[in-house]
Amino acid sequence: GVVVGRRVGSRRKWKRVVSVLKELEEACETPVGRLRQVVDAMAVEMHAGLASEGGSKLKMLLTFVDHLPTGSEIGTYYALDLGGTNFRVLRIQLGGRRSSILSQDVERQPIPQHLLTSTSEDLFDFIASTLKQFVEKEESGSEPSPVRTRELGFTFSFPVKQSSLRSGILIKWTKGFAIEDMVGKEVVTLLEAALVRSGLDMRVALLVNDTVGTLALGRYHDADTVAAVIIGTGTNACYLERADAIIKCQGLLTSSGYMVVNMEWGNFWSSHLPRTSYDIDLDSESPNPNDQGFEKMISGMYLGDIVRRVILRISLESDIFGPVSSRLSIPFILQTPLLAAMHEDHSPELKEVAKILKETLEVDGLHARPATPLVGILKKIGRDGSGGITGGRNRSDVKMKRTVVAIEGGLYTSYTMFREYLHEALNEILGDVAQHVSLQVTEDGSGIGGALLAASYSSYSVDGVN
Ligand code: BGC
Ligand code: MG
Repeated sequence: GVVVGRRVGSRRKWKRVVSVLKELEEACETPVGRLRQVVDAMAVEMHAGLASEGGSKLKMLLTFVDHLPTGSEIGTYYALDLGGTNFRVLRIQLGGRRSSILSQDVERQPIPQHLLTSTSEDLFDFIASTLKQFVEKEESGSEPSPVRTRELGFTFSFPVKQSSLRSGILIKWTKGFAIEDMVGKEVVTLLEAALVRSGLDMRVALLVNDTVGTLALGRYHDADTVAAVIIGTGTNACYLERADAIIKCQGLLTSSGYMVVNMEWGNFWSSHLPRTSYDIDLDSESPNPNDQGFEKMISGMYLGDIVRRVILRISLESDIFGPVSSRLSIPFILQTPLLAAMHEDHSPELKEVAKILKETLEVDGLHARPATPLVGILKKIGRDGSGGITGGRNRSDVKMKRTVVAIEGGLYTSYTMFREYLHEALNEILGDVAQHVSLQVTEDGSGIGGALLAASYSSYSVDGVN
């Protein structure tokens, strides 16, 4: 790493700094062998999570989504996207042929901070009233359509145990949300009650995770899309699995023989992960210790705070940053977008770095971490060139299919160095196979995909009324 500071320390102080950084560098090291161990651990955990309920820290949740949009969906649909830093309401009009989205309107709003720890009623009243205003604005001036009830896809980006397409209970909160009365409750019931209170006529067509929405939009545009990844405030992935591989629900019937599985990989854990003392402290001081271990090592909500902890330690052990600033002890004061900006400052004097922090350091090892679970999925579905975990065919025997992974989230789209490290690590682990794997960014995919799924599961499209 590079240390920028007032160069006033004595040789001894610098020695201390160098040793703190050396220690960190070693703890973060991700040689390709270690990356492969993590990939293998991920594939093993995927199997365990599919084999039995509670069989792994990877929940491998059923989504009941057994077919994905084809491009022939038609009509006007709404979506709500809740779960990260912003809340979105959307409306799309679908042309019915060749994946044509005739119009799409998206309104983004930061979620008022106090609602994150308030009651479910407050949260859903806010959502319903925002949606109602949006609908009124969108529909003003256009002909009312009295026969059709409006339909909505609800993208809710937290772990939910679904019992059908449109029902499921919240297992736990992640990403700083903490509305206690909602854990264990039916999510759609709460939304519907708030819609009734607001007087808005809208049917909730289905409930989906953001990864599933992202997969749906990816698939709508490209039939080779088989998985989706989110690396934003939090992190997760979903993929298309064979129904007969989901052993924990023997005899699961789906119309296609497949079902999308929401992995909840934010909770992945393996002793091979390069976990540092900073990760351990961050976890134990978080509101959900021992939970979302992998998410806390890589996602946007936490990366900045890992770096703050490193800077604090250096500041405590040497005086290269001058007197220890009390601001360095404030959790989450260093937000990940600032970290990204510092990391992307390639000027020789590191002006941007100096401007943002006055002093900071670079930690490369953090960034190889997210590539490994992605390869874990490719391995599980036999697209990593090894012929699947139980395969045993060698690489040259396998004719590689083109594999598209839809990807979304601010960390991937807005943090250039993060994206580059991820690509580098993918190339390193996959070797030649990497050329068959393509990552496609789908902007607002989680929400738009929710609306697309509402269309493809619409009560109207079933009986052909469109
Ligand atoms: C949630 C997932 C979600 C991911 C990305 C995680 O904290 O548990 O359900 O997909 O964040 O938003
Ligand atoms: Mg999101």
